[in-house]
Amino acid sequence: MVRMAAATFESLNPSTGEVIETFPRSTAADVDRAVAIARAAWEEWRLVPAPERGNILFRFAQLLEQRKPELSDLMTREMGKVKAEAGGDVQEAIDMSYYMGGEGRRLFGHTTPSELRDKFMMSVRMPVGVVGAITPWNFPIAIPAWKLTPALVCGNTVVLKPAEDTPLLAQRFVELLYEAGLPEGVVQIVHGFGEEAGDALVRHPDVPVITFTGSRETGVLVTKNAADELKHVHLELGGKNGIIVMDDADVDLAVEGILWSAFGTAGQRCTAASRVIVHRAVYEELQRKLVAGAEKMRIGAPWEDDTQIGPVINETAVEKIHSYTEIGKSEGAKLLTGGERVEGHGFYYRPTVFADVDAQMRIAQEEIFGPTTALIPVDSFEEAVYAANSVKYGLSSSIFTRDVNKAFKAMRDLQTGITYINAGTTGAEVHLPFGGMKQTGNGHREAGQAALDVFTEWKSVYVDYSGKLQRAQIDNVEQPVSDT
Ligand code: NAD
Repeated sequence: MVRMAAATFESLNPSTGEVIETFPRSTAADVDRAVAIARAAWEEWRLVPAPERGNILFRFAQLLEQRKPELSDLMTREMGKVKAEAGGDVQEAIDMSYYMGGEGRRLFGHTTPSELRDKFMMSVRMPVGVVGAITPWNFPIAIPAWKLTPALVCGNTVVLKPAEDTPLLAQRFVELLYEAGLPEGVVQIVHGFGEEAGDALVRHPDVPVITFTGSRETGVLVTKNAADELKHVHLELGGKNGIIVMDDADVDLAVEGILWSAFGTAGQRCTAASRVIVHRAVYEELQRKLVAGAEKMRIGAPWEDDTQIGPVINETAVEKIHSYTEIGKSEGAKLLTGGERVEGHGFYYRPTVFADVDAQMRIAQEEIFGPTTALIPVDSFEEAVYAANSVKYGLSSSIFTRDVNKAFKAMRDLQTGITYINAGTTGAEVHLPFGGMKQTGNGHREAGQAALDVFTEWKSVYVDYSGKLQRAQIDNVEQPVSDT
């Protein structure tokens, strides 16, 4: 592990503002050293049989299971996620590690018949080299697992630059990988800030793959800065996810789904429902029930059992969320509840609901990344789908309806990488692709089989056992008869 930097930074508890631990603020020179170690380790790691690499991930999954209580508890303190959700975050890493461990015995390619006799053809997945993984703070164990477990099983080594708000969880994650038997050097961690350590990793010539999860703005920068080396860049960016509630919906179920999707993790999920597009026939009922539900949610210390809403990550986040409350009011939206920080210690904000929002208002277009949702009234299914699609992001969407025709049309027409029917916008499972259309990403997917495409190159192999020169497209094709 590289711990050479002289400068340091602190990881804070967002509930109390207390310092959790001090970390080295890695520089470009530290990144250089980390990449050199990972590059050297790659020469051996790529030759380790994939099932053996998978076995390490199985052991890692078992260790995560054993340490789930302490990791979850640490997450409540370093990131502020409430207990049950912190457990879910770790569980996602456990599931992903088992799933990707199993890939060690699959990593399927294709075999296909040749057009020539006595010739064999197949495609195989090859590791790429050193992967630079840059992660956000909001899923501090799950997201490193989404990136590192497929990267490793495919035979790559990794330099991880976790978010500066959750370095201790990332450190624990890497320590457990080594405890599970990962050979020395295969994963390196550098800490610190995006513009320093992150940027150095993005530009490093010996890092051919960058896998990045974070904001759209940073994703654009990463793409530009990786362009000179023509790196493979995998981006998972923001969302402005909408739940549609139709006139035939089970409104109580929809309200439950909205409360969970809009205010879970204090709205700091890339799949958070920050828009609710509601048919006017159920608009009044939904408003009433949603506000009652939001005002009942228990705000408190995330490590206490009955807390439903914990803090947001830091002071900057509180200020950003509040600035959107002011923007919403100035745009003419109606503030139904919330709209203020919770006085006292820590970075808490009340669940906030705006009504009478127009789909083009800034609060309905821009990612707020806090416990704020905007109700947009509509008169028809078509209008609802149009409103849902009228944002630049395309991560997750949902519709509550009992009409199977509308459900299938929504599956077809909603421009998002994930669509839920009669559930909120969150709740992905590890064995289906995860990611977004439009400006939520750049066409890649995390999780499922799709993740393997980020971390491998295809190689097509032709084996000719005929003992003679055979030319495809020539020797096996009848030549046209000439007239002369
Ligand atoms: P962020 O973009 O501020 O930071 C993400 C990471 O990038 C951090 O590790 C940061 O240090 C690093 N970074 C910052 N500037 C950099 C630079 N110039 N070069 C290289 N690295 C740099 O995002 P955040 O606030 O940590 O996370 C919240 C964002 O992440 C939201 O937009 C959310 O929607 C998104 N997110 C997306 C997904 C997804 O799968 N689509 C999942 C979780 C979060």
